[in-house]
Parts: sequence; C-alpha cells; structure tokens
Amino acid sequence: MSKTKILLDESEIPTHWYNVIADMPNPPTPPVGPDGQPLPPEALGVIFPGALLEQEMSAERWIPIPEAIREVYQLWRPAPVFRASRLERQIDTPARIYYKYEGMSPAGSHKPNTAVAQAYYNQQAGIRRLATETGAGQWGSALALAGQFFGIDVRVYMVKVSYQQKPYRRSMMETWGAEVFASPSNMTEAGRNALAADADNPGSLGLAISEAVEEAASRDDTNYSLGSVLNHVLLHQTVIGIEAKKQMELVGDYPDAIFASCGGGSNFGGIAFPFLADKAAGKDVRLVAVEPASCPTLTKGTYTWDYGDTAGLTPIVKMHTLGHDFIPPGIHAGGLRYHGESPLVSQLYHEGVLEAVAVPQLATFEAGVVFARCEGIVPAPESSHSIRAVMDEALRCKESGEPKVLLFNLSGHGHFDMSAYDRYLAGDLVDYEYPEEAIQDAMSRLPQLATSE
Ligand SMILES: *Cc1c(COP(=O)(O)O)cnc(C)c1O
Repeated sequence: MSKTKILLDESEIPTHWYNVIADMPNPPTPPVGPDGQPLPPEALGVIFPGALLEQEMSAERWIPIPEAIREVYQLWRPAPVFRASRLERQIDTPARIYYKYEGMSPAGSHKPNTAVAQAYYNQQAGIRRLATETGAGQWGSALALAGQFFGIDVRVYMVKVSYQQKPYRRSMMETWGAEVFASPSNMTEAGRNALAADADNPGSLGLAISEAVEEAASRDDTNYSLGSVLNHVLLHQTVIGIEAKKQMELVGDYPDAIFASCGGGSNFGGIAFPFLADKAAGKDVRLVAVEPASCPTLTKGTYTWDYGDTAGLTPIVKMHTLGHDFIPPGIHAGGLRYHGESPLVSQLYHEGVLEAVAVPQLATFEAGVVFARCEGIVPAPESSHSIRAVMDEALRCKESGEPKVLLFNLSGHGHFDMSAYDRYLAGDLVDYEYPEEAIQDAMSRLPQLATSE
C-alpha cells in the first residue's frame, strides 16, 4: 500500500521563512509614490510595524520565525500532504497526484500562516487595533483568530456581496471577537464617496482595502493588515512549500509541476517559491498559477504601475493589473476577485520563471465536485481552480502516457461555500465572458507616473 497521508512531526515546523528575493534573476521593483519616486520605508510606517517593513524589503534568503509564532502554528502545522490515489484512478492517469492541505487551520485556509505573524509583529510594536478588508471572509476570519491570540482588536471591512452571501463567515469573525462592517460603509470617506456615486455598489476588494487603509492611517493606535499581495505575506506563506518539499522527499518523489490558485498570489507563492530555489539552481520544475477566466490578472492583465486599492490610498506598485477600479464579476470564488497581483509573482511571471493559466467557473466547480467525491474533502471554490488545472494536466498525461508527478495546494475547505455548491448542483451557475470592455475602461484610469512605461 502506498502512503495516503505524508505527515511531519511538530518538531519539523519550519524554523525560517524562505525569501524568494534572494534567488530572483533581478531585484524586485520597489513601490513608488504618485511622483514615481521609490517610497521611503517611513512613508509606510504609518500603517505597518517596522519588523514587517524590514521583511518587505529584505534580501536575506532565510528569515527566522519567532518562537511565539511557531507555537501558534503548532495548532495545525505541519499540514499534511495527501496522495490523491482515488482521483488518479477516476481520471485513469499514469500521473501521481499529491496535494498539500491547508484547510486544517482553525479558519479553514492557508491565511492564518501570515495572520498570526502579522498580529505578533503588531503586538510587539505596541499596536492595539488592526483594520483590514475581506472578500470571501477567509482573510477576515484568519486575522480575527490571530488577533485573539495576541490581544489585538480587529475591525473588518467585508465586501458587501460576500457580507450578504456568507453570513456565517461574519458570525465566525464575530465569534473570534472581530467587528465586521459591509463595505462600502458610511464610516470612511472612501466608502461614503462610493455610496454617493452608487447606493447599490456591491463592493470590491479594492474598495474595502481603501476603507481599511483610510482608517489605519487616521488612527495612531491602529495599523493595517493585508492578507495577500505584499512580499512579507508571501514570505510567511513559504512554510507551505518548505514542509511540502520535505514531505515529497519522504516518499522519494519530486514534482514535475506545481499548481496553486492565484488571487493576490500568497498561497501560490507559499507553495511555489521554496521550489523556485531549486529551479534557480537548475532543477526542472514547472510552477503554474491558476486564475479565474473572469478575473484573469496574469494571463490578460498588463504589467504596469497601479494602485493596490480603488481610492488610490496605497503605494503604487508594478504588477499585473486589470485596473484598480475594475469590479470583477460576482463569481463564487471571492478570494480570487482582485484586480492586481503580487509584485513578486508578477515580475517572475514577466521574466518567464512562472507560468499561468485561466480556467472558467463551471469547469472549476465540476473539478471541485469530482475531487470531493474521490477524496472526500469539499474544496473552497478558490482551491478548485488548482484542482481543475491539475486534472487537465493529468488528462494530458493519460494521452501521452507520461507518469508525471503533480503537486497542488489545496488552499482551503469549502464549508462556508455550500450556497455556491447549491447553485452549481442546481444548474444555476454560469461562465462569465472575459469582461474586456470593463477592463479597458478601468485601464484608462491608471496612475500617470514619470516612470510609467
Ligand atoms: C484567499 C484565498 C485564496 C486566494 O488568495 P491568494 O493570496 O492568491 O492565495 C485562495 N484560496 C483560499 C482558500 C483563500 O482563502
């Protein structure tokens, strides 16, 4: 019998995060202000603690994980790697399929890996409150949980469509002590402006970020916390790939290709970057980011300078973007509805180190249901994007007869997404066309910089 769960002992929780900047072909592009000049770290000190800003800029390959963070990680880490042998049999593929499962965290996704670190460093800096946004609710849940562990109050601006569609995510955040408001709200200028323009504005991640940043910038006791996109967030998520590498070693396999869903890039960077270190040293491994066809940031976006939020309160970064005021269609993978992309993932994709593929909503749900029936776990719709891509690859292996080793990141479970599954099973879900006009329109409002290319 081959192994089903590949487990590590608690003593093998990583002691260091891996910083991909040390192995990138070119140094990362720094964030800039509206004048096109690189921002001094002090400019960001208003909303982030110094330790996180240091990590944001660091070029050190390995960054130690403080003991207090590893102690919280012990609640669910190391996360298991599973061999998906029933899925392999179902597809009748010679490929060997493995997945890393991040849904064992209390919040149900990979997001607590960075939430715990961010809450810790803010507590160390004397911060009492954190403001943040959440789309589908996974990030808000993760930060609410982490805030409890480190005695920090958490306020969450939740994208209005999700607030209405996923009431139990809100209950979960409130159970962990957070305050939750539907965004746009009337509590910030960004929110009030959006409501004045359109009282029925469904909200977007970009707008909720504006509200949280505005609040953090206007209060001394409050910092801002972001669940993806930034270098330090991807850094914290590398515990996923560091563990997965050890687990693959234990069964004597090395992946030919790695797949992960890609919204802001954190669970993808988390699993892929530690393998990118091997790739930089000459190893042949494909790293594939999977995004929704309706919000195709990498595959159809432009690599240019843009704001991270709708109101233009964040620094301007060079990334793949669909335009900072683009509102993606209301697909049932709220965690992937973001106009931009991690600058690190964007640059590495631009340089040809990483690959990306876009998959449509219906085929994604179909893959999620096949997976649930074979492997038991009901995946988050976000995670189902990586399942779709890995199944497509496994089907190609069936045609070519190649016994490839495929690894994907199952970033979370879908227990709060059952209304989306209901709609899929009832035949009510649709595929959205690539919203070309809306994107072109948003792209006409990019910030104009002296350095723009
Ligand atoms: C938030 C989320 C994502 C997308 O965010 P990334 O930063 O791209 O990882 C994917 N899967 C799950 C389960 C999520 O909660």
